[in-house]
Amino acid sequence: CIMLCTLEAKKEKSPVYKNANAPTEKRVEDLLLRMTMEEKVLQLSQYVAGRNTNANNIGEEVKNIPAEIGALLYYSTSPRLRNDIQKKAMEESRLGIPVLFGHDVIHGFRTVYPISIAQACSWNPALVEKACAMAAKEARLAGLDWTFSPMIDVARDPRWGRVSEGYGEDPYTNGVFAVASVKGYQGDDLADGEHIAACLKHYIGYGASEAGRDYVYTEISSQTLWDTYMLPYEMGVKAGAATLMSGFHDISGVPASANHYTMREVLKGRWNYDGFVVSDWGSVVQLISQGAAANLKEASEKAIMAGVDMDMMSRGYDKYLIELVKEGKVPVEVVNDAVRRILRLKFRLGLFENPYIRETTEKERFLQPEDIRLAEKLAEESFVLLKNRENRLPLPVDTRVAVIGPLGKNRWNLLGSWTAHGKDGDVIGIYDGLELELKDKSQLLYAKGCEFEGNDESGFAEAVATAKEADVILLCLGEKRNWSGENASRASIALPKIQEKLAMELKKTGKPIVLLLSSGRPLELCRLDPVCDAIIEIWQPGIAGGRPLAGILMGRINPSGKLPITFPYTAGQIPIYYNRRQSARPHQGKYQDVTIEPLYEFGHGLSYTTFEYGDLKASATQLCPGDKLTVEVLVTNTGDRDGMETVHWFITDPYSTITRPVKELKYFEKRMLKAGETGIFKFEVDLLHDLGFVDGDGRRFFESGTYYIQVKDKKVKVEVATES
Ligand code: BGC
Repeated sequence: CIMLCTLEAKKEKSPVYKNANAPTEKRVEDLLLRMTMEEKVLQLSQYVAGRNTNANNIGEEVKNIPAEIGALLYYSTSPRLRNDIQKKAMEESRLGIPVLFGHDVIHGFRTVYPISIAQACSWNPALVEKACAMAAKEARLAGLDWTFSPMIDVARDPRWGRVSEGYGEDPYTNGVFAVASVKGYQGDDLADGEHIAACLKHYIGYGASEAGRDYVYTEISSQTLWDTYMLPYEMGVKAGAATLMSGFHDISGVPASANHYTMREVLKGRWNYDGFVVSDWGSVVQLISQGAAANLKEASEKAIMAGVDMDMMSRGYDKYLIELVKEGKVPVEVVNDAVRRILRLKFRLGLFENPYIRETTEKERFLQPEDIRLAEKLAEESFVLLKNRENRLPLPVDTRVAVIGPLGKNRWNLLGSWTAHGKDGDVIGIYDGLELELKDKSQLLYAKGCEFEGNDESGFAEAVATAKEADVILLCLGEKRNWSGENASRASIALPKIQEKLAMELKKTGKPIVLLLSSGRPLELCRLDPVCDAIIEIWQPGIAGGRPLAGILMGRINPSGKLPITFPYTAGQIPIYYNRRQSARPHQGKYQDVTIEPLYEFGHGLSYTTFEYGDLKASATQLCPGDKLTVEVLVTNTGDRDGMETVHWFITDPYSTITRPVKELKYFEKRMLKAGETGIFKFEVDLLHDLGFVDGDGRRFFESGTYYIQVKDKKVKVEVATES
């Protein structure tokens, strides 16, 4: 007995879950067994903290947070508040389970880099991975363990404000950047103190919100769900994303946050996902307004049964789950499964061993010179030269430039939505960048011209006079940062009339106009485009866009960005995207009033050099499914300056059981080619994966027949036979 009692006491002194050397799953099970139902439901709950905290009310804030809370949406950058809250959890709760601190680190934390749609224009996932790693480091030092990013909702309606937060209209592109962001945020070891857990959102189909409005419904056929929306999630899950977020929308009548099929069956069943799903902010209680639940109790039941493990801000799980379990409506095992998933992440993050963070100064934590260089590089590669009539750009060295427009000296709007802790004082804006770039400052003139919106034309005269003094007008127009992002849809995607009018007035001076366009979405440019000699889409580049932009304008940098989303000619063409399905009369189905062609298509983006593509060469053209196929293309830089080129590889399946898109992106590669250099670009085709497709329940298909592999207007035909 004595021996047994000693063993028992020893066990109590150091339970398995506190043993850092024990396997994670053992620690999870050990801890779970010790937890009461009250403790469990709090683990499944997320509250907010640090929204209005200052040095004087930290104590008050800590007092209001239950020691057993699972996670906090943490608004502060104060390591002290984090440590005080964590101390309460570690020391005042019975089991000492650390809190998980999460927030939206979408495109940087304090070092803000370009918005996601801009990042995609870089076609440089390695760079995006680095930027996410940099954001993770800043965020972790400030007290976060978890970001609600990346958003990988395929988006084909630029009226939707959240187009800015994702990687465009193509499933594969979203998938590649999902993988890059997950790798960047999470690194190889979540417990190394420099990385944070990622969250793929908003599972699934949020980008299809009807008419581009936020928080509404979607109509997605099961075929389209799999064809268009699932791929990025599948890729992100495979890359090891720690969490997923459900959404506010419904998927053809079943709310995303009560969707058993997408969460329980596909994600946790077929994909064997062992991370957790968090609801969107209040998306559990919103099941009531969606008409899917009569009250918060029923909403909580539906959400957890469908697979939402953590309730963000509905306060339904901590209030009703115990009752629901007692009534037999929610099996204990469902609660346990959700708790396990959350604990697992806390162990992986090393929070039990290292619950606190070092109280560093802001200077130590943020805006390190290498971070800013990285933000500059990503901004540089995200700028898209849409148009360059008669090679107007780059500008000759001694050009006198007139910077005109509401964005010329504005810094705040370049940050974009969701800037976490970005500050406009950190921003190098358009004018700032030119000031740094130009040796002779007298070359630089400025007039604001007008505000972003309204109808005050009183600044036009000065703008026109300034333009007349100059050799070229750099017209800085665009959207304010809060015109895109969450709940920032626009029925018109044109610039406000006052901005267009300013452009028309300036045109009358006869001076060439270079439009520098900042926006969170593709804009309708059909009226502006004809008056501009050159256009650069700069999106919302974050804090470091000014220098690389000036570098491009003056020719120090050769632009390389390409569009991951179509720019319509006019909003009436929406939805318009490159991977539309094949149709009955491909060249008809026209509008009587406007073209059916976009203004700038997916993949468009100019360079200061020229690239010539050779014919595609396939390693074989008659194949069986097990065979290897490599397709190559020679690309030559035929201009006189070095430049980066992105080769997009598409496939077309012209005849199959289910009508396929006119073309689908399957692979891309970006590379630097020196002036005169020829590079071989290769696509190793995975026959079953790249040429096959999935049905409306995700089953992979492969059909024999003809396929085309395509790069630009070059095509090669291959025949694949399923029977030899
Ligand atoms: C957004 C999410 C975000 C969450 C937390 C919601 O309103 O839809 O994308 O992660 O708030 O801030």
